Amino acid sequence: MSTAVVVGGGPNGLAAAIVLARAGLDVTVLEAADEIGGGARSGEAIVPGLLHDHCSAIHPMAVGSPFLRGLDLERYGLSWAWPEVDCAHPLDDGTAGVLLRSVAETAAGLGGDGRVWRLLFERTAAGYERMSGDIMRPLLRVPRHPVSLARFGVPALVPAALLAGLFRTEQARGLFGGVAAHAFHPLHRPLSASIGLGILTAGHTYGWAVAAGGSRRITEAMAAALGDLGGKIETGVRVRSLSDLPTAAVTMWDLAPTAVAEVVGERLPPRIRRAYDRFRYGPGAYKVDFAVHDGVPWTARAARRAGTVHLGGTFAEVAATERDIHRGRMPERPFVLVGQQYLADPQRSVGDIHPIWAYAHVPHGYRGDATAAITAQIERFAPGFRDRIVGTSVRSAAEFAEYNPNYVGGNIMTGAKDIPQLLFGPRVTLQPYDVGVPGHYLCSAATPPGPGAHGMCGANAAQRALRRAGVG
Ligand SMILES: Cc1cc2nc3c(=O)[nH]c(=O)nc-3n(C[C@H](O)[C@H](O)[C@H](O)COP(=O)(O)OP(=O)(O)OC[C@H]3O[C@@H](n4cnc5c(N)ncnc54)[C@H](O)[C@@H]3O)c2cc1C
Repeated sequence: MSTAVVVGGGPNGLAAAIVLARAGLDVTVLEAADEIGGGARSGEAIVPGLLHDHCSAIHPMAVGSPFLRGLDLERYGLSWAWPEVDCAHPLDDGTAGVLLRSVAETAAGLGGDGRVWRLLFERTAAGYERMSGDIMRPLLRVPRHPVSLARFGVPALVPAALLAGLFRTEQARGLFGGVAAHAFHPLHRPLSASIGLGILTAGHTYGWAVAAGGSRRITEAMAAALGDLGGKIETGVRVRSLSDLPTAAVTMWDLAPTAVAEVVGERLPPRIRRAYDRFRYGPGAYKVDFAVHDGVPWTARAARRAGTVHLGGTFAEVAATERDIHRGRMPERPFVLVGQQYLADPQRSVGDIHPIWAYAHVPHGYRGDATAAITAQIERFAPGFRDRIVGTSVRSAAEFAEYNPNYVGGNIMTGAKDIPQLLFGPRVTLQPYDVGVPGHYLCSAATPPGPGAHGMCGANAAQRALRRAGVG
């Protein structure tokens, strides 16, 4: 039996391992941390029994992942739970843009802007399931559903600021801008609408679900599926050089491209090594988990029922903060994403103490303390929040890079989403998973279709490996 080694046990490493094991290879995953999961881990941090997602929290992309859907992970204990409101974007006047799973209901809440919202999302959400096969793989392929793809792709080409200009109300503009800001990219640049449109369209199709019992349930279920296929996982093994690896027919790298350049070193063809060395990382994240008595007293009532709350005020304010962090300046009032997963998954709370997940967008490698700025942003839209805080746990941008080397400078996207990296991945090529060394493939979120706990980068990379090996 041929053997395969997967370096890194994040969602993409595990996905790659499953594809290879299913094809009959003898697979071993080597994970540096003491537990698998990468960006899909959860655990206690502040109060015993209170469950926090350490990284990813909200999962429209995982629920809709063509690969994960095919695994029947429910058999291994994964179940999804949905909050009543997917996302709220509160404003200073106490109102909010409100995102619901239904396009029609979201549009109805957006008044005069409902028509544009429907135009943008009604048909694309209806066709998302068909289209996801096209957008969840390298884009530069002949699409299987060109009409659906074009309907999604044309608005995705433009700057988010241009699309936001189609709306007249601050609620709709803010709601759209907050989701577009997930790209960690200036909102006036071309293609900056694409990631937001993808998340919104997937959300209108599958809802902004959380994993019951924490995001760790996703990777735990994947690990169990791998175990059933005979795959093995070794934790606490940091691969620093090729000599740390057993001989294998296939080696998959669930790592950042610069790390692959370091580890694989001279064996990489010079042009690929140069491309990996020059790989660009975007701004960072600074995370604060809170234990909060009685939850967050949001002024906007919809936010009290929302799984996700985006804090940044008007579109113009969000756009300005994103521009600042891109230029290396820490804004006084950064864009903050708040997760209230316990609303959909009450088992995460301890009595009336609830886990609140929050992170701010900060400059790459930011070394300052953003805890007060994050707390102040929540307080701005929920006066009285401070008095309810029972405890906090902080992970700065620098600490993110220590927690997981894939998050270089705290960049949780594993790479800047500028035009070439968004379209091609780490280098301009039609084969983004090939690293130029026979049998070696890159499978992390640095490759298409990019970040998210959906496993599609790993699955695509492993299928590429199997095709080249003449299997499958
Ligand atoms: C704060 C935060 C919030 C997020 N929110 C969301 C969200 O709500 N929804 C969503 O879909 N996504 C979210 N993401 C992104 C998502 O978690 C990632 O895109 C996803 O985990 C990428 O998967 P991956 O397998 O490519 O890499 P990772 O999950 O980063 O896994 C890589 C693994 O490789 C291991 N590793 C690294 N170097 C070595 C080495 N040398 N040897 C051995 N092992 C090594 C690491 O320890 C890690 O386990 C978030 C991420 C963060 C950090």
